[in-house]
Amino acid sequence: MAWGGNHALRKRRQVLEVYGNICWLCKQPIPGLPSADHVLPRSKGGTDDIENLRPAHLRCNISRGNRVPKMKAQLKTSTDW
Ligand SMILES: [Zn+2]
Repeated sequence: MAWGGNHALRKRRQVLEVYGNICWLCKQPIPGLPSADHVLPRSKGGTDDIENLRPAHLRCNISRGNRVPKMKAQLKTSTDW
């Protein structure tokens, strides 16, 4: 997560508003402001658009690293988790 500052904070608030505070990686509630995880990592061409971001625990975000999840097909069905 090389992006910092107010831009990142705004994105994290937006992620919280759109997706709630459930970690998309472990499905557990996130206390406080979630970290914004990239569904498709930026190193693989992912964007900072809200559609490519999901709330995640910082530890889940970090442990996931740059792997692209197998559930990529769920990208457009953000409500079924
Ligand atoms: Zn988590």
